[in-house]
Amino acid sequence: MTQSASEITVTPARDYGNEVGQGWPVVVEPAPGELLSSWLHRLAMANGIPPQYFGRVLDVAGGDWSAKLDRDLPGRILNLLVERTRLPTEDIDGLALNRDPLTRLRMRQTTGSGDARASTARVNRLQYCPACLKEDRAPFFRRGWTLATRVSCFRHGCSLRDQCPACGGGIAPSRQNRLLRQQFCVWCDADLRKPTLPAEYDVQRLERLIDDLLRMHVAGHGRHGKTSLPAMLGAACFTFNGQPTSISRLPHRVRYVLFRQLADGMTHLQKRSVHPAIDLWTRIARAAPKHSDLVALLSAEITSQITPGTKTRSRHPDLADLQQVIVRLHSNRRTSLATAMPAN
Ligand SMILES: [Zn+2]
Ligand SMILES: [Zn+2]
Repeated sequence: MTQSASEITVTPARDYGNEVGQGWPVVVEPAPGELLSSWLHRLAMANGIPPQYFGRVLDVAGGDWSAKLDRDLPGRILNLLVERTRLPTEDIDGLALNRDPLTRLRMRQTTGSGDARASTARVNRLQYCPACLKEDRAPFFRRGWTLATRVSCFRHGCSLRDQCPACGGGIAPSRQNRLLRQQFCVWCDADLRKPTLPAEYDVQRLERLIDDLLRMHVAGHGRHGKTSLPAMLGAACFTFNGQPTSISRLPHRVRYVLFRQLADGMTHLQKRSVHPAIDLWTRIARAAPKHSDLVALLSAEITSQITPGTKTRSRHPDLADLQQVIVRLHSNRRTSLATAMPAN
């Protein structure tokens, strides 16, 4: 610095509010498929506030303040977030699970005590794919992981996880009281990205069929009300700790075993239950192998029409892939085709 002290001029800073308005200093863009609470935690930390205290900024009480907002985002808070971040209203509203057609199948949030040693802190709140978190530049939780019908990652083929691999505590990033990213356990600081085992093929096949059916439901195909697909799947009760329990309340390890038993032919439920919801689970499990083959066959057939001589057969056919192929086919014919909304 060559200037002498006498040349330095000091001017009174204008009021911070006048300078930056009501906006927060740092704005974080939501990631594709991100859950509202995940984005709020990242937004809080980017502005120097540990997530545990950010609920007070938004005037929402409780240790699970952000999970409450996932399920019910009040207009006053949505407006506040829009005002402070200057992001479009629809971009923020779209992160929440408001008006969710799959509510019955979202994993239930349980209010914990905040004490890692207490059993209430060990219930499942969130599940995640460790490989996805490892790939993320800024690790974030996906809306799709909140579905109880998801037990594995379609991208990486590994099982999801809903407990810390070190201490067994629940995944509760809203309780983080330091500026630590979401890939660290709030109870013991362990890295949550320790790999999980690959999911079995039969389990993923059943999981994919259910996911495809739910996509169709979200797209507006299927029944509504008490006989809708998510209502029926959510109404079925399975025995857990001696109690009849909906799938939305089962921990991941139990749901995974359930899917494997269903894929294996449901040995203990071979006789169809009189309950129509259990009957539906049985039917879907029996249809999974045929559905997988059918989608693969259709995919190969349509692909061969677009690029002759390239009949391919995917080991893991996906209805979403099939939809993309159909769109490509129709765009080649210069016609438009509406695509179904994903079951997020
Ligand atoms: Zn993954
Ligand atoms: Zn831990």
